Amino acid sequence: MITRTPASLHTITREQRESPVAEVPESSAAARGDWRAQLRDCIRTPQALLEQLGLPTSLLPGAHDGHALFSIRVPHAYASRIRADDVNDPLLRQVLPLDAETDIVDGYVNDPLEEADHSPLPGLIHKYTNRVLLMASGGCAINCRYCFRRHFPYEDHQPSREQWRDILDYLQADSRIHEVILSGGDPLVSTDKRLAWLVEALGEIAHLKRLRIHTRLPVVIPDRVNDELLSWLGATRLQKIVVIHTNHANELDDEVAAAMSRLAAIGVTLLNQGVILRGINDTVATQTALAERLFECGVLPYYLHAFDPVQGAAHFAVGDAEACELMEALLEHLPGFLMPRLVREVPGRRSKTPLGSAMPSISIIAST
Ligand code: SF4
Repeated sequence: MITRTPASLHTITREQRESPVAEVPESSAAARGDWRAQLRDCIRTPQALLEQLGLPTSLLPGAHDGHALFSIRVPHAYASRIRADDVNDPLLRQVLPLDAETDIVDGYVNDPLEEADHSPLPGLIHKYTNRVLLMASGGCAINCRYCFRRHFPYEDHQPSREQWRDILDYLQADSRIHEVILSGGDPLVSTDKRLAWLVEALGEIAHLKRLRIHTRLPVVIPDRVNDELLSWLGATRLQKIVVIHTNHANELDDEVAAAMSRLAAIGVTLLNQGVILRGINDTVATQTALAERLFECGVLPYYLHAFDPVQGAAHFAVGDAEACELMEALLEHLPGFLMPRLVREVPGRRSKTPLGSAMPSISIIAST
């Protein structure tokens, strides 16, 4: 196991902590309101990100090395929440490639969840008996450096319209399946027209009860929650759950809060899942602030994922024992209903594996 501190991390200073957030270039500000334009216009080179944030060019060589393995992609709406001049900003660290990503670390693999073994059809992962995951898109609006799917062969899992019909037939034929999870990539990268077609077709399968959408788009481009999306999502008879992905309270600005309100107004249950990440949210203070801010936005903390050992992201790892200690400490700071569940996906297991004792049923008793 290689242990190293990424060269680009420095001690945060008071001045940096109080530094202003990045300015959004005029071109991208003009595209506000048009989520597709924002998707096209996102930051795609390390140089552009460093320049916009006033960060030193000494970070460039390492950033290029990481970028060569997993390209950088940052929407301007997200970049605007990053503090300028602060190399330790918790949002920056989620998106800035580092040379540490080139380290080959023992025990870290390309497919830590072995998802490819559970895919009976392209675009479909059927790991749990009563729910399936559909890869409704092979792209994301943002490339998170710690992503456990950073090596996933999305190009092999992009169903054509005909293959979608095969998937729908598969779902129709298995009445044990009650819930469909739209994932990706990020499913909301798909067009509203395509999603409307798919969700309408899912609604026609009588034994399906719930539609769950795992997405980071409303966080990184809040304008994605537009009238068209609200129209097709609001129209389905299926119970609707949107699980956003947020790791730090600074990701949740007023625009994100407004997007959450729009979803709640059409009857969507809002949950959050995050990943415990070294240097980003591995303290009681950051987890408490995140849970509090989520609830202000009408979102309940759901899962806090233990770090999956994906090659290229070992520098984010927080050990399970440390994560469990953090959860125990959190009990003193959060009411039970704001406690996320610390879980790990173990390949081959039919459900997520809870870690530690700070599970909601216990925590509600312990901390209400
Ligand atoms: S949004 Fe999710 S799937 Fe996409 S890069 Fe980030 S963690 Fe991975």
